[in-house]
Amino acid sequence: MNFKPEIAIIMRSDEVIKEFNLKRVTINTSFGPVHRCFVGKIYDVPVLVIYGRFNSEKVPSSEINFEQTIEAVKNSGCKKLIGTFVVGGINPKMPQGSVYVLGDLVGMGNYNIHWNQNEPFHNAEMYEPFCPILTKKLCEASEKMPFPVKQDATYVSFYGYPRIETKKELEFYNRQGWDIVGQTCDGEATCARLNQICYAAVAVQIDDPNSRKDYVDNLKVNKKKNQYVETIKSCRERTTKIVLQFLKDYKEESCPVCSKMSRKNNNFREFPDYFYE
Ligand SMILES: [Zn+2]
Repeated sequence: MNFKPEIAIIMRSDEVIKEFNLKRVTINTSFGPVHRCFVGKIYDVPVLVIYGRFNSEKVPSSEINFEQTIEAVKNSGCKKLIGTFVVGGINPKMPQGSVYVLGDLVGMGNYNIHWNQNEPFHNAEMYEPFCPILTKKLCEASEKMPFPVKQDATYVSFYGYPRIETKKELEFYNRQGWDIVGQTCDGEATCARLNQICYAAVAVQIDDPNSRKDYVDNLKVNKKKNQYVETIKSCRERTTKIVLQFLKDYKEESCPVCSKMSRKNNNFREFPDYFYE
């Protein structure tokens, strides 16, 4: 690929791809090709849009190959990535459609990684999981939105069996002061950090504890109610708007942090050489 994107965005938006006439390309990785890549310019910024997190088929979150998606970004030559998320609500006071710029994340376990055995292993430094420069720019873009956006939000990354959260889990998260819950941010943010890619994220909430209770209560009394899944598209439009504003205002700024975040140890040996004798 001759085209070198400045910003990569993981985003499912047919409208953006059509409006800016982005061209589909395939990016090869050590895990195999990634076909869902679209390149072109949005407001003069060369971008790579990766259409979501699923490679060809939908799988449970524990089987999503985040490493492959991040490797596609890396192989494109791009050093900056924005993740867009559709998430669940935790705080009953925040309704469906609420929008967030992420400030921190909490990982709740059941991690699964497809580690490339040709690469030396190291743990990512995640004290501050999101790039300060990109996050600041997303916050500035979010302040221009016609709807409120909560900044510095905490995302709980929940990797369960294929299910969403129970009432008690939501109550627990809410008591901790955490904002939103989903299944994919930790894997993506961690893999970006492992590859020294600047990473920041925006999220939109497609349900809330009240709407979930409502849904179940209505089933009990046999009242038909449309499930909230239908509104995902209109919710997504909000995070897309922030990303477009971010690109409209975009000016290159070097990041002093993420590219240096490496704890690589290339000299690892199972045991010292002299024991081989
Ligand atoms: Zn950075």
